[in-house]
Amino acid sequence: MIKLRNKDIDKLAEIINFPSVQIHQLIAMKLIDQREAINLLIKTFYKKLKTEKYATRHIIAAIMDEYSVSRAKVQSIIYNKRQNEYHCQKCGKKIIQSEYVRNNKICDSCVAKDIHLY
Ligand SMILES: [Zn+2]
Repeated sequence: MIKLRNKDIDKLAEIINFPSVQIHQLIAMKLIDQREAINLLIKTFYKKLKTEKYATRHIIAAIMDEYSVSRAKVQSIIYNKRQNEYHCQKCGKKIIQSEYVRNNKICDSCVAKDIHLY
């Protein structure tokens, strides 16, 4: 069962521009879907960190650690996708399963970028 922590509620208040005291009240009355609230926090953190030039795989790892969720879960939230879709762990591009498996979770262009001829 996902539960919002105080720091999550404070961040949520900031994101939706709504007093955290009232969010606490809504949670107590079970009027907030805490799972959806966490999803919103994850999406918001991802977008913010992406503009700070962090690599997608690092951002995902940080989110997994913070919210104790799986990589697939984070990916499904940030890409708004079903969990059976595959994304390059370096650049986030959607790739087909065979490419994902063959390249060890990296897309063909990221594999190519890692090859240094000199
Ligand atoms: Zn890639």
